[in-house]
Amino acid sequence: MNDSLQSSREAIARAAPLPALGHFLNHCLTTYAAENSGAAANYIPELSKANPAHFGIGLATIDGHVYEAGDSAVEFTIQSISKAFVFALALDLVGPERVEAKIGVEPSGEAFNSIRLTADNRPFNAMVNAGAIACSGLIHSVDGSGAFERVRDALSRFSGRELGVDEAVFESERATGDRNRAIAFLLHNYSVIEGDVTEVLDVYFKQCSILVTARDLAVMAATLANRGINPISKKQVVSPYAVARTLSVMTSSGMYDYAGEWVYRVGIPAKSGVGGGIIAAIPGQFGLGTFSPLLDSHGNSVRGIKVCEVLSSHFELHVLNRSHDVRAAVIADYDIRGISSRRSRQPHEQVILDDHHQDIRVIELVGALTFANMDYVTRRLAERARPALFIIDLRRVLAVMQGAARLIADMVRDLATVSVTVIFSGIEKSSLVWDTISAATKTVAEVRRFDLLDEAIEWAEDQVIYRYGGFSHPKDSSPLTKQALLAGLTPEEFADLTSLAKPRTFHIGERIIAAGDPASSIFFLLSGMVSVKLHSGVRLASLSHGMAFGEMALIEDMRSADVWADTPVTCLELGIEQFETYCERHARSGQRIVHNLAALIAKRLIQANTKVDLLSAY
Ligand code: GLN
Repeated sequence: MNDSLQSSREAIARAAPLPALGHFLNHCLTTYAAENSGAAANYIPELSKANPAHFGIGLATIDGHVYEAGDSAVEFTIQSISKAFVFALALDLVGPERVEAKIGVEPSGEAFNSIRLTADNRPFNAMVNAGAIACSGLIHSVDGSGAFERVRDALSRFSGRELGVDEAVFESERATGDRNRAIAFLLHNYSVIEGDVTEVLDVYFKQCSILVTARDLAVMAATLANRGINPISKKQVVSPYAVARTLSVMTSSGMYDYAGEWVYRVGIPAKSGVGGGIIAAIPGQFGLGTFSPLLDSHGNSVRGIKVCEVLSSHFELHVLNRSHDVRAAVIADYDIRGISSRRSRQPHEQVILDDHHQDIRVIELVGALTFANMDYVTRRLAERARPALFIIDLRRVLAVMQGAARLIADMVRDLATVSVTVIFSGIEKSSLVWDTISAATKTVAEVRRFDLLDEAIEWAEDQVIYRYGGFSHPKDSSPLTKQALLAGLTPEEFADLTSLAKPRTFHIGERIIAAGDPASSIFFLLSGMVSVKLHSGVRLASLSHGMAFGEMALIEDMRSADVWADTPVTCLELGIEQFETYCERHARSGQRIVHNLAALIAKRLIQANTKVDLLSAY
């Protein structure tokens, strides 16, 4: 390769790479900037002053990444896009019954400013002016003169920043808004609006004049795509119920008299405004915000529509064109053969666990738990012999949908009748996932919850060991002769080793070994329990009588983890120097001990490999 080619490749590799979607949006921007048809809205005089060259795109993913292209930071008035957010706000604020009694959910098939009402004299839906003014009326019925502030605050939470108002546009629309005034008085005549019509209109005009950028719109739309949680602030802005209803009406009516065509061709819930903005939201994926003031005859931004169209067709984003493989929810499914919790068991306990490994079944799940995923899990569970204990690990599950929670409750109830204990792991007590599951299962049967999968497996192992009569007493002890590390020593050799070692005792909670200290001795546990832990608190192992710790001192110079006394502990400590003395006196036996150590390490390695295999089998 020639030098300059080499160095230019290196330069490209060093530059922060723009992700593929970023390139695509830039490409859209340059392609459609050449599209100059349409005109800025002029029925609100102030809007006709818009710069026709402005063109910005924002796209916010639900994991909180925002792509921006072009004039994505230029402010403009939100106009009708506010209708979607104020509708969601009204559903939560006054409740769906009142909102649905006043405003329909049918597409009108007419322009946004149509004055026509349904046969029972209600606005067709909340995405046209009549319905939106009625919505502002509902907010006003709760908050009176504070209604606009309520709206501004809600929209600010959707966007994640304090949004201001373009007073000039507000005044301009108020001065020329007779058509909206006519609509509002007509609604008042039919008691759809009950308060002061002029005040309600001011709320509406002002909400339309709230200033946003394409980036803001992207985050606001992504909040709708994320079941009401702003993906940047992580705050719940509106309820999932309100979000689903808002997206429904956006789908059927968000683009006015172009709505049917829009669903058919683009298939993404969207809403446009005469300020030149468009939002589009794909549930579970992203929110898009575009800004370009040139409008078509429906009042929709020409370039914005192009961006939505090409994005949808290029990436196949039509929301009715979906595939979802429920099997992907299960990342691992195993019984505890060959794997176990980090508690090392006494030999007789291990025999019980080896004999009854099928009694504990673990299914590890990933992603959002939906009705379909959970149905698959219940079928999968039924395929094999029933375990006595069933652990569902949720550490990779971010959300549990109501449908999944209902199936979990039914499953827990069915399993309880055949004495299967259901255990959830990998979730904290104060988490949304646990709130959902515990609410659904509360009245059904008792379920257990552990922060960590390892704790759940250990608890389940205890149940199995107990059930088969193997439970050891915490006061049990083992002589040195039971140490696996010392297997094969003669009585004389044991006696000599004991004489070289120092008896030690430790009390509960005492640190016996500290990570980073020189590794200068081996401990043989005679009674009590210890845990080996990393600084982070992660437990590597729990050990009891008859087991050794610190044994890696035979190989390494430094301690790699802490060892804590979980109970009062007695042990024998053998210094490395004393061990060397011992080896000089008993060369064959010294070799034997090193061989035993290698065998113990090999056993641990096999266990670790079994776990890795379990996870990579899916
Ligand atoms: N404020 C504008 C109006 O009521 C909003 C219309 C729109 O964006 N489609 O006319």
